[in-house]
Amino acid sequence: MAAKIIDGKEFAASVRGKVADHVARLKEQNGITPGLAVVLVGEDPASAVYVKNKGKSTVEVGMNSYEHRLDADTSEEVLLALIDQLNNDPAVHGILCQLPLPGHLNEELVINSIVPEKDVDGFHISNVGLLGTGQKSMVPCTPLGCLMMLRDHHGSLSGLNAVVVGRSNIVGKPMANLLLKDSCTVTIAHSRTKNIEDLCRSADIVVAAVGRPEMITGDWIGDGATVIDVGINRIPHPEKEGKTKLVGDVHFASAVEKAGAITPVPGGVGPMTIACLLANTVTACCRSNGLEEPEGLTA
Ligand code: NDP
Repeated sequence: MAAKIIDGKEFAASVRGKVADHVARLKEQNGITPGLAVVLVGEDPASAVYVKNKGKSTVEVGMNSYEHRLDADTSEEVLLALIDQLNNDPAVHGILCQLPLPGHLNEELVINSIVPEKDVDGFHISNVGLLGTGQKSMVPCTPLGCLMMLRDHHGSLSGLNAVVVGRSNIVGKPMANLLLKDSCTVTIAHSRTKNIEDLCRSADIVVAAVGRPEMITGDWIGDGATVIDVGINRIPHPEKEGKTKLVGDVHFASAVEKAGAITPVPGGVGPMTIACLLANTVTACCRSNGLEEPEGLTA
């Protein structure tokens, strides 16, 4: 039987709806409007599109959006001074510095200069450590989105076998920590893993975050498993010459025949990332004001 398709667009819309409701309550009951500051250094076209979309989505849920566009040759000193200013601005509850940064800037230093409470990307070393030790933290947006979809599909994740393929700091590792926190038995696979197909086949949940187009095929998937495809890969279109298409790290057509549920690409994990950025911002706002956190929007 073909799998249930987990509709990320629809799910992201429901997350944004919950965020908007909570923002409206914060305004009405507490006179607070959550604010997200996004810093873009340079003119990378893909980053410029992301920043524009983030700003638009922020305003749509009723929050304030503060965009800071700096020249590509901005010095580290100037960038750190801006972050310091945002750290101390009470109207700003979340700060995101769009990556990648131009080569002359030290990404680690810049990320770790954001106060952890406003680090809505969840990349600050304190948040990484808090998540790694199972404590309350700001959680990276993409894995948070995957977790929300998994919880929604399974209810409890306790005791399920999960294989995360990929060990990056922004997806694979935080994903594994989140699943562990929800009491899954977690295996992290990577480029040196032996018998990776067998590992995946024995899993109840497979999260693919590899960056290799359609690497994980249907014969890697156990009957009825849940497949979350984080990959976004642009490949030449097989039928339309000169055109491209987006595919995931999972070979959808074969995996959909084996899985119990699967996210498509596009329209699966992708839309959840910005929705979770908004969720993190409202969470950060509530925490900084000592208010109750929105239900279902955090790890
Ligand atoms: P990275 O390149 O940082 O990490 C890829 C991981 O995959 C590495 O750990 C690597 O292993 C592993 N890997 C590579 N080749 C193989 C292989 N043949 N077998 C097993 N493991 C392998 O990628 P990211 O984590 O940043 O991103 C992964 C994918 O997710 C990309 O397609 C990216 O575009 C997408 N993405 C999507 C987002 C969204 O919003 N939906 C957000 C972020 C990323 P090793 O460590 O050994 O090299």
